[in-house]
Amino acid sequence: MNKIISLCKRRGFVFQSSEIYGGFSSCYDFGPLGVEMKNNIKRVWWDEMIKNHENIVGLDAAILMKPEIWKASGHLTAGFADTLVECKSCHKRYRADEVDSKVCPECGGELTKPRKFNLMMKTFVGPVEEDAATTYLRAETCQGIYVNFENVLNSMRLKIPFGIAQIGKSFRNEITPKDFIFRTREFEQMEMQWFCHPKTAAKYFNYWIKERLNWYLNLGIKKENLRIKEHKKEELPHYAKAGTDIEYHFPFGWREIEGIHNRGDWDLSNHAKNSGKDLSYYNEETKEKYIPYIIETSGGVDRSFFVFLIDAYQEIKGGRTETTKAAKEIEILLKLDKKLTPIKVAVLPLVRNKPNIVKKAKEVYEMLKPHFMCQYDELGSIGRRYRRQDEIATIYAVTIDFETLEKEDVTIRDRDTMKQERVKIKDLISVLKEKLGF
Ligand code: ATP
Repeated sequence: MNKIISLCKRRGFVFQSSEIYGGFSSCYDFGPLGVEMKNNIKRVWWDEMIKNHENIVGLDAAILMKPEIWKASGHLTAGFADTLVECKSCHKRYRADEVDSKVCPECGGELTKPRKFNLMMKTFVGPVEEDAATTYLRAETCQGIYVNFENVLNSMRLKIPFGIAQIGKSFRNEITPKDFIFRTREFEQMEMQWFCHPKTAAKYFNYWIKERLNWYLNLGIKKENLRIKEHKKEELPHYAKAGTDIEYHFPFGWREIEGIHNRGDWDLSNHAKNSGKDLSYYNEETKEKYIPYIIETSGGVDRSFFVFLIDAYQEIKGGRTETTKAAKEIEILLKLDKKLTPIKVAVLPLVRNKPNIVKKAKEVYEMLKPHFMCQYDELGSIGRRYRRQDEIATIYAVTIDFETLEKEDVTIRDRDTMKQERVKIKDLISVLKEKLGF
């Protein structure tokens, strides 16, 4: 964990929020490389959902909504509360399900009786802080989807089954945010809600569990680090008929990274009842009218970001590189999938004291820049620069050397195999595109 956290800070992936003011606990900022990687995760998920399924469409609903929505969804009642206990001596708070005994794990003090603690973040709209102006930052993105069910259905002329996908920020006043970006109070979710006939819900539930598990596997997460955990009836959230978590083997144990739920008709029925709008679906062919069931896939962007980093992180003792100097060092290799890696191509002049080589390298960089996320680096020995790129998962390093000046070709070094091949500059874009699968 500490190694990943340190890499994140050192190389510009993740910073503590408000750091120069001593930090704001449970909030994190994504740095220059982090934001690239996070955008890549979101892009790959979006493409998988929207591009690969002709019957899934996207949505970007507002974070702030009418508070009635959160009443109807059950979020303002006990359904969306964690149970809190507090130490009477040191006043540290815990989620009741996280402490095994009646004493404080920190100081041994007596713990209070458990009490419910709602996770919704309250805020006020308008200039007056009063009950009438109270609303909430959304705790999940999916409610924005349910209340737009009719709008999307009608405007896109969809037929059941179909899905609505959305990516966006959610907020929860977690009692014990912890484990770096695993549990935070502000986070991003990628959720897809699949509307289907009640009789097909069980089939689609199983279908989406497999699809979502494969998504992580196809992006390189090791099979042995993933597992499926079915919820028992008593563990199900208030809205669900069935639920399964995809779990990852974190350094701190097996934890959920994505939940797949059969939400039945809970959401649409409740919103219909509370809004007075008929949210049923009419099938023209069968003349059947019904409230669709919903299968949801609900993943965390930040949590999967963390998982991709942990799974990709490798330390190679004694060095793996071209330079013997490194022999005693530990080299870090971040073996991220090429779709997720923040930088695709590094452009490196072999030396920086030869103006012709530097000039040529800058030309190559300018040529590649519109096509790939590139980084130009001329500082330090070439071996050190390769290692710097390995540490941030850059897939290819393009090196401009003395031969380039004569032959108009460069070397491409592969991050994983470290193999180098010479390619003509005029072919470079198409060769890299092919290698990267663009
Ligand atoms: P947990 O049991 O870990 O609190 P949950 O069951 O409340 O999670 P869901 O409501 O199913 O989580 O949310 C779906 C996904 O959103 C989770 O699998 C996770 O990836 C992400 N998520 C939920 N809460 C947080 C959080 N506080 N910080 C970061 N990601 C979160």
